[in-house]
Amino acid sequence: MDSETTLLWLRRDLRLHDNPALVAAASADRLLPVYVVDPSRYDAAAFGGPDSFVFEKTGGHRTAFRCAAVGDLRERLRAQESDLVVRTGEPSAVLPELAASVDADAVHVHTKPTPEEQASERRVADGLGDVPLVRHWGHTLYHPDDLPEEIDEIADTYTPFREHVESAATVRDPYPTPDLPTRPAVDPGSVPSPADLGIEELPTDDRAALDFEGGETTALERLEAYLWETDSLREYKETRNGLLGRDFSSKFSPWLNEGCLSPRRVSAAVDRYEKRRVANDSTYWLRFELIWRDFFQFQFAKHGAQFFAPGGIRERDIDWTDDTTAFERWKRGETGIPFVDAAMRELNRTGYISNRARQNAASFLANDLRIDWRKGAAYFETQLVDYDPASNYGNWAYIAGVGNDSRNRSFDVLGQAKRYDSEAAYVSHWLPELDALPPAAAHEPWQLTPADQAEYGVELGVDYPRPVVDLGGGSG
Ligand SMILES: Cc1cc2nc3c(=O)[nH]c(=O)nc-3n(C[C@H](O)[C@H](O)[C@H](O)COP(=O)(O)OP(=O)(O)OC[C@H]3O[C@@H](n4cnc5c(N)ncnc54)[C@H](O)[C@@H]3O)c2cc1C
Repeated sequence: MDSETTLLWLRRDLRLHDNPALVAAASADRLLPVYVVDPSRYDAAAFGGPDSFVFEKTGGHRTAFRCAAVGDLRERLRAQESDLVVRTGEPSAVLPELAASVDADAVHVHTKPTPEEQASERRVADGLGDVPLVRHWGHTLYHPDDLPEEIDEIADTYTPFREHVESAATVRDPYPTPDLPTRPAVDPGSVPSPADLGIEELPTDDRAALDFEGGETTALERLEAYLWETDSLREYKETRNGLLGRDFSSKFSPWLNEGCLSPRRVSAAVDRYEKRRVANDSTYWLRFELIWRDFFQFQFAKHGAQFFAPGGIRERDIDWTDDTTAFERWKRGETGIPFVDAAMRELNRTGYISNRARQNAASFLANDLRIDWRKGAAYFETQLVDYDPASNYGNWAYIAGVGNDSRNRSFDVLGQAKRYDSEAAYVSHWLPELDALPPAAAHEPWQLTPADQAEYGVELGVDYPRPVVDLGGGSG
């Protein structure tokens, strides 16, 4: 039999461990791993139809993380006598050319359920002509073939989905890294920096929850640290609503979403932790949250682009407002509602905010300001270091009342602030101008009388904005 050559098209699966597409591609005699930098991913994009708005698809936080992850993968492949070929261009032009240059027999890739990724796969498959594009599934905890029902039959609410998979499906063992065959002699190209992609490098901020650095190497270090070194998993369920610090939650999301970390690898590590340390509600709850992640992936496989409609998968007819001034204030963290502003400033400075902060910032935009939720989701798409289309738009739609829950998901932002930030430590961390205020006033500065403002040295409308909307509780 003739010798076989494969291409591995890496996208958001930047790892050697538990990588089904790599395992399949590595069974050939020669393997060329390729990463294609698609410049259109770093451009501004228009959202929607006639009422469209423009936003940046990938901001500085995620671009820096991704560039580092690509560089790390190249190092790891080189350590195995292979390499990562990096090219810039539209994948449907780059990949057929590379495939032809090495006379490839097949191109392997991980498929994704979201519309843009699917469209890109279709264009590449067309461009490859007779060379097959072999699609693998490798980014969820549960494999779709192991689900108890067909994708179209999955319930639109989380609990039945979770109960079905917990009772009737098993998580497959992660694949070990295969031995890698030789690599055809091809110029490897260089890994771009954010500046090469026209993306401004953002400064780091020492107030950040964690310094997120992309790559499989740092992903595995974080897994090791969270479970074994700090033993934080033991208390995850009690701490996961935290707002400040490294270890109140796992912080795995950026690595999971760029594919530097496999959820099955996390699950296998939790299994080991349960055997060696403790099995409790917290170890269960980390899996519970990973099942949420799966849920949105499979929801996108089921509903596709309908998720991006203003009325979401529920096709609700909601008259969203278009208050540009309020939207800009929300983006900058200048709404005058400290809990929301702290979240937005943390997002802008670091690319990461806790789940609790995301829920409140999103609910405020969609349910208090009544601004088209998709604008908020698009802004998160730009800023988040851990952005994933299904997790982001799925969660936003859910909170805006147009997604996977028919109940009202509006948050009482003030009540949440007092409950989850009772000492206003989070607010002071990100809004130092409110540092001198006692906690109650730090959450409702509009309540301050002129005499209070003079006493604390905070002048409303000068040092900190007046609220963009009345949340109740008096005026300032
Ligand atoms: C408006 C909004 C937008 C969001 N956008 C994203 C996004 O783009 N990417 C993203 O990964 N998560 C998103 N989330 C979900 C969640 O906030 C983050 O996954 C979580 O905060 C990441 O921190 P962690 O890794 O420490 O999470 P942990 O609490 O440690 O959870 C472990 C993992 O479970 C998964 N997970 C947890 N909660 C959710 C959830 N609600 N939905 C889906 N997966 C979940 C994540 O992969 C996470 O890394 C969003 C939530 C909201 C409310």
